[in-house]
Amino acid sequence: AKMDGRGSYRYYSDEFTRAARERIDLSARLRRAIEADALEVHYQPQYNVEDGRLLGAEALLRWTDPELGPISPGRFIPLAEQTGLIVELGGWVLRRVIEQGHRWRAAGYPPIRLAVNVSALQFQRVPIDQQVGQLLEDFEFPADQLELEITESALMADPSRARRILQRLRERGVHFAIDDFGTGYSSMAQLKRFPVDTLKIDKSFVDGLAEDDAAGSADDRSIARSIVGLGHGLGLTVLAEGVETAEQLAVLRELGCDHYQGFYASRPVPTLEFEALLTSAPGT
Ligand code: C2E
Ligand code: CA
Ligand code: CA
Ligand code: CA
Repeated sequence: AKMDGRGSYRYYSDEFTRAARERIDLSARLRRAIEADALEVHYQPQYNVEDGRLLGAEALLRWTDPELGPISPGRFIPLAEQTGLIVELGGWVLRRVIEQGHRWRAAGYPPIRLAVNVSALQFQRVPIDQQVGQLLEDFEFPADQLELEITESALMADPSRARRILQRLRERGVHFAIDDFGTGYSSMAQLKRFPVDTLKIDKSFVDGLAEDDAAGSADDRSIARSIVGLGHGLGLTVLAEGVETAEQLAVLRELGCDHYQGFYASRPVPTLEFEALLTSAPGT
């Protein structure tokens, strides 16, 4: 029994070491990628549910390591949060997107709103009101064409600080969206204390909207309906993320959801492809 115990401990320990080494290796690669400007931003268009008008885009990070290939944000964002690299990474994305927005304006593309994700740790560590304010000035970018996406938990970690920071940026005209809404715990009372503009219905509720499974679908529909009601009650815009089918979109239209994004309309696309969308978009 003793042998077994040691054997399995050693096995576990090897696994543990390997996983730790992999993470260290991956964060070193990520650090180099940031330094070498080797990351990319893709843009996923956001549309008006009612008339299909292109309204904006969410900026999403893409990283391809020369040896390991593409690594998903679902993997490297949590890692960047654990190592603190998110501070640099988050700053890099903000600069890159605002710079791109500036270029599109200068080139005469129709104005749209660009949404950038701000992670919880980034929000806690960086005075983003100063950082974003500076970038808006550097690139003479109109504040109301920038939206910051932030989760409920990031706001709730220190609500009064969060409120101050949002307030300062809101005064300049920056918009705020609550990301993954419905997965956290904010109540209506808490929500109305923050100057936010948009609620993003989490994809997990959109998935079941038009499923055959009548029970599950009814649940997701009531959740989506409540979020639309709550959002509109507070004077906010409601956007559904992860819309993949015409059926889901039809349900969202019925529920009065304002905006949407998802593979049904378009995947996140590289800059050049997004420019083509901007050029051909009806109504912009
Ligand atoms: P998120 O902010 O909730 O972003 C939406 C995710 O859903 C993106 O995954 C997007 O590609 C994906 N998506 C959009 N429409 C559909 C759809 O119709 N079907 C499916 N199956 N997926 C869809 P992605 O790009 O892999 O990003 C994952 C997460 O990584 C993001 O979730 C966000 O939390 C984080 N992330 C990505 N880029 C950044 C960034 O620049 N900064 C920070 N802090 N986080 C980022
Ligand atoms: Ca997001
Ligand atoms: Ca989201
Ligand atoms: Ca999500």
